Amino acid sequence: MKQPVERFAAYRQALAAKVHASGVKHGKTLEAIATVPRHAFMDPGLHAQAYEDTALPIGHEQTISKPSVVARMIELMHKPRHPLGKVLEIGTGCGYQAAVLSLLADEVYSIERIRPLHDLARAKLRPFRINNLRLIYGDGILGLPQAAPFDGIILAAAGLGIPDALLDQLAIGGRLVAPVAKNEKEQQLVMVERMSSQRYQRTVLDGVFFVPLQSGVV
Ligand code: SAH
Repeated sequence: MKQPVERFAAYRQALAAKVHASGVKHGKTLEAIATVPRHAFMDPGLHAQAYEDTALPIGHEQTISKPSVVARMIELMHKPRHPLGKVLEIGTGCGYQAAVLSLLADEVYSIERIRPLHDLARAKLRPFRINNLRLIYGDGILGLPQAAPFDGIILAAAGLGIPDALLDQLAIGGRLVAPVAKNEKEQQLVMVERMSSQRYQRTVLDGVFFVPLQSGVV
């Protein structure tokens, strides 16, 4: 990843320290948080808040996710002592998490259903010249069968359940991490590991708050 000259290095380190303090221990994930300039994915009016550990608006009623939650999900997607091969992200938004993932996986595919956000992410990511990241405009509920199977799948938006197509496209031994709505107000982080072609092991973790997973493209 090409790193443009900028003056936020100390802020990025401080953000990685906050993410560490929130409980994330995975060294490579923390390093990636300390490397990606989060402000570059946001509106200039929000740059002053870019290194706070909070979700912030990116337009179209969507948000850039909270860094400690991004890191927690990426940490969960890693199996101990297994480097990440091919990863699929549902919900590119402005492209921040996709940039973080590009530092941790061999290949990253990221799908967004809102055309102007897909275009925004493309523009925001261009200066970094990341060559292992592909952005796709489409409905992530369908996954990306042409690039499957994936060693890791991460959802940045909460559905009522986990779409079957995504479970099908998970490699055996791979992990999917998603926020899942429990009811109108509550969501939980769920990690699913594919144990064999038919068997999936599901673990329910922390309470979270994400924008909704919606079907179709706009
Ligand atoms: N990954 C982003 C978070 C963006 S918010 C980050 O780095 O901060 C979640 C995004 O998921 C929104 O942009 C929303 O439009 C998108 N989304 C919701 N449902 C989707 C679907 N079915 N397919 C693809 N993207 C979807």
